[in-house]
Amino acid sequence: MTDSASGAGFGLDHLPYGVFSVDGGPRRIGVRHGDSVLDLAFETGRPELAAASLNPFLALGPQTWSEVRAEARALLEEGAETTPLDEVDLHLPFEVADYVDFYASEHHATNVGRLFRPDGDALLPNWKHLPVGYHGRAGTVVASGTPVVRPSGQRGPGDVGPTRRLDLEAELGFVVGAASRLGEPVPAEAFADHVFGVVGLNDWSARDLQAWEYVPLGPFLGKTFATSISHWVTPLAALDAAWCDLPGQDPRPADYLAPDTARGLDLAVEVEIDGTVVSRPPYRSTYWGPAQMLAHLTVNGASLRTGDLFGSGTISGAGAPGHAEVGSLLELYGGERFLDDGSTVVLRYSAPSTDGGRLTLGEVSGAVTPAP
Ligand code: MN
Repeated sequence: MTDSASGAGFGLDHLPYGVFSVDGGPRRIGVRHGDSVLDLAFETGRPELAAASLNPFLALGPQTWSEVRAEARALLEEGAETTPLDEVDLHLPFEVADYVDFYASEHHATNVGRLFRPDGDALLPNWKHLPVGYHGRAGTVVASGTPVVRPSGQRGPGDVGPTRRLDLEAELGFVVGAASRLGEPVPAEAFADHVFGVVGLNDWSARDLQAWEYVPLGPFLGKTFATSISHWVTPLAALDAAWCDLPGQDPRPADYLAPDTARGLDLAVEVEIDGTVVSRPPYRSTYWGPAQMLAHLTVNGASLRTGDLFGSGTISGAGAPGHAEVGSLLELYGGERFLDDGSTVVLRYSAPSTDGGRLTLGEVSGAVTPAP
């Protein structure tokens, strides 16, 4: 178990949810407090928490989420027994239903547009009118710590082999709890009625596969080999102090994207490779906010399912490629340097907390193993 460096930031104002087991026993749901786990299934007796994934609990919606959070807090305040993190195994926290990844950072889209299309406009004409996204592969979303095998595929015409351009994308993932009905768009204002919380997310990317395959239907095998998420899901209820204004949207987006009330989240991200922090992307710099992405995802009447996951898109702050606020190596090194076999990537996240301190969100780690 590697996600236990420090309990700081895991106080009573945070209480993220995860799925754990002890000595190969049954999986159950717990909340993290400091460097320990409270067994919510045992302590509350709630059947939805004696489950191998968060899904049954997520499906019950905001009223239950808030009741269980209050119960967890009360149990810890009363001194309920907890299990040290180093005595538990952590698992993928929820069964991923559909997985969609957006492309919502203007700085990232501009940097990548320049690198992929040096002779064209960096931003395509639709980019400031809608949050661009693509469908990823739900079945290859893996928990932090899962090794990532270097993918092989078409690197160009007649050129098949292991990727030479394996990259990371530092992102935030939004976890849908309560479902919606087919044919009924979910307005941006209903974000907290459906979205339960957030996870750290690394959208591993093979840039040579991606650059060859992405026209005209978007990313495919250059992305679907693995997407890593944190063990811990931070509920939106712990992020009340993190909401912030977006940098500004011009031209004014369509009404269903709620341009007058759209907000962002002031989360700080840290990208570490083999023990060295190489970049610190700020999520407050995102162009499209999370509620706008949710409204866009459902504007056509597509329904939400419990366990749906949507990614923020690579988080990159201001500045050209090479700037240490970018969320990918493509941008950091201008296409000159990527991940080696044996390298370990760790993404760390923090946010302002309601008590004036900072929350540490669950980290996302993954080591690259050689192509078979
Ligand atoms: Mn991505």
